[in-house]
Amino acid sequence: LDALAQDEVEVQNVPLDMTGKSNLKIILIGNSGVGKSALMNQYVNNRFSNQYRATIGADFLTKEMRVDNRMVTVQIWDTAGTERFQSLGAALYRGSDCCLIVFDVTSPTSFHAIDAWRTEFLVQADPSNPDHFPFVVIGNKTDLADRQVPPRQGQEWCKGHGAQYFETSAKESVNVEEAFLYAVRTALKNQKENEL
Ligand code: GDP
Repeated sequence: LDALAQDEVEVQNVPLDMTGKSNLKIILIGNSGVGKSALMNQYVNNRFSNQYRATIGADFLTKEMRVDNRMVTVQIWDTAGTERFQSLGAALYRGSDCCLIVFDVTSPTSFHAIDAWRTEFLVQADPSNPDHFPFVVIGNKTDLADRQVPPRQGQEWCKGHGAQYFETSAKESVNVEEAFLYAVRTALKNQKENEL
């Protein structure tokens, strides 16, 4: 009987906007070559290519999905981190609901750059809640043997900055789905809080 009562409570808690649609914007930043395009391509198209193609300016893919009983259209932006496109900055970053900062676990330089990327994002995007803006950090290329950044370093940075940490291999499709799903959920939550 108790279990039944519990179920009834849960049914009542199903959000009224169950059929409502949400549009989310998720942006990928980080040094060039860390695997931003590869992650996006693996997540959206389930494909990986070893070919390196530098993103010029920005590129985006959309994915429609059902998350927690809501239909969500996610726009995922892949950016080129060159100064040449800095003028695109604000327009590109603004309106993001979640920011993924990617580094390559075989490149300490790319790891040390995440701090500057976070600052750059906050300056350009100018979110309404900078102290609580959702950042997800991704240590990518875990399939490679010459890892140089231990998981602990990524975890510690995230702990200090209120970010969530994931390690992925875009190549072997490890943890990619999980990282993006987390990003989508946290983006939804962030959007909802800003609406209130
Ligand atoms: P971006 O500049 O950050 O968009 O980086 P790309 O997605 O273009 O990737 C740069 C290079 O790293 C490409 O040659 C990719 O094939 C390779 N790469 C990306 N992700 C992985 C990964 O998880 N593992 C391995 N081994 N290589 C990867």
